[in-house]
Amino acid sequence: MKICIACGMPMESISDYAANDPSRDYCIHCARHDGEMQSFQEKKENLVKFIVRTQGFDEKVAEKMAESMMRKLPAWKAFFE
Ligand SMILES: [Zn+2]
Repeated sequence: MKICIACGMPMESISDYAANDPSRDYCIHCARHDGEMQSFQEKKENLVKFIVRTQGFDEKVAEKMAESMMRKLPAWKAFFE
């Protein structure tokens, strides 16, 4: 089992992997429709929307939360250095 490098989700079944391809290091939620990994900006925007929708924070707060989550993930570390 691998952990998605872009969101930290454990990928337990084939359908959790981007494009149903277990050789990928990221999950279906972090992939675009063509199977490629989302960019830093895309992932951050999606996370912000997700936090606003599920937790009701305003966008500025959600953005800070998204950044602090992403900071811990291997796919995005370089964006914070
Ligand atoms: Zn992911």
